[in-house]
Amino acid sequence: MSLDGSYDEGNVFALILAGKIPSTKLYEDEHTLAFLDIQPQSKGHALVISKWSKARNILDIEPEALAQVMTTVQKVARALREALSPDGLHVAQFNGALAGQTVFHLHVHIVPRWEGQPIGFARHGQDGFADPAELAALADQVRACL
Ligand code: AMP
Repeated sequence: MSLDGSYDEGNVFALILAGKIPSTKLYEDEHTLAFLDIQPQSKGHALVISKWSKARNILDIEPEALAQVMTTVQKVARALREALSPDGLHVAQFNGALAGQTVFHLHVHIVPRWEGQPIGFARHGQDGFADPAELAALADQVRACL
């Protein structure tokens, strides 16, 4: 998938928004949804998406939707900091397959970082798929700080 193209209504985040597949929700409001990544780069790796924009990437998102997404990114980043006490927070967003994008519904990653741990993005997360029960417990911990 290049930078150009049309929005695929069957992409995995569209399916989450449609309630067709589950997600471990951290936060939602009228315009945005935040949930935990299933192949996390670190403990607490979260994703934020727009509920209404059909943008695939930063080039085609409506400024209003982008502002809504980034406002939620800040809210969730603050909660992650309070809940997990990371040393840093990596906020990232990829555009186009060649830049590492795999899901073509614009999303922003928030990856807590700790000293001594890898800071790159591994192709399928640092340890593959997370244990759903661990994600659920982590989400409770973060939601308590929102
Ligand atoms: P990107 O490479 O920027 O497109 O990131 C897509 C992210 O979505 C990756 O970190 C995946 O692990 C994550 N992901 C894919 N499917 C799901 C899902 N069903 N629930 C949560 N995260 C997902």
